[in-house]
Amino acid sequence: MLEARRLAIIVTLKCTLNCKLCCNCITMYENPPILDKKIIFEDIKGAFQIYDRIEWLQFVGGELFIHPDMHLILEEALKYKEKFDKIILMSNGTIIPNDKTLALLSENSNLFEVQLSDYGDLSYKIRDIEKIFTKMHIPYVTKAFFGDMQHYGGWVDSGDFEDRGYSESELKEVFDNCWQISMKNLHVYNGKLHNCIRSLFALDLEMIDIPCDEYVDLRNDDMTLEKKKEIAKGFNTKPLKACRVCNGFDSKKSKRYPAAEQV
Ligand code: SF4
Ligand code: SF4
Repeated sequence: MLEARRLAIIVTLKCTLNCKLCCNCITMYENPPILDKKIIFEDIKGAFQIYDRIEWLQFVGGELFIHPDMHLILEEALKYKEKFDKIILMSNGTIIPNDKTLALLSENSNLFEVQLSDYGDLSYKIRDIEKIFTKMHIPYVTKAFFGDMQHYGGWVDSGDFEDRGYSESELKEVFDNCWQISMKNLHVYNGKLHNCIRSLFALDLEMIDIPCDEYVDLRNDDMTLEKKKEIAKGFNTKPLKACRVCNGFDSKKSKRYPAAEQV
């Protein structure tokens, strides 16, 4: 029995904002894609072939409510409802979900929670969204990320993808103190499942070669399911190649920056 704590499923890299420290590297994409719904269906299916149970499924972007088929993606995810506890949707408060999505969220309110990041004036639709959610009994939480109300004290800068030249002991320290690792969050995007978002984007943006035992290529039919599960079991046990090109994410020591500064 293989269980995961949280899996973030990226549905699009398109966003209404352009945050300098975006941990999903949105600013590095010339044409951030909106993934076809069938790709996302396959990502969900692939993840549940690996894991018997995933506590929380999180749908994220970019801004996920840009996706025109969000309601169909959520409908698909609900087919696996015996295998997860909750679905979390993370939005920046700039887009009101379409009517079909709102109806689906309302009808299945016991299974959903929308997490709204409030970036002050940038999240220009957030109060309207909150009113609609309240009226339709859609569970949500709003996290303030502006002025003196920075949730978690602000954002961390993981830096560029240049090699930091860490010694082996420094590398271990960066990895051991990484919030990303302690949270045991997983991420899937376009057929690739990673235990670190930096590793995922380092691969997708072709910044560095990522060893094939540091992520699961869900679409690799030449790899057995057993081998894929074996890789997943090894997640969070040793430093990644991506850690060599990362400032780390130390929840106690890393310097904090104001959230959502625009480029
Ligand atoms: S709102 Fe900012 S941090 Fe969030 S996905 Fe968009 S650009 Fe990235
Ligand atoms: S690359 Fe390593 S140190 Fe950086 S966020 Fe990922 S796991 Fe943490």
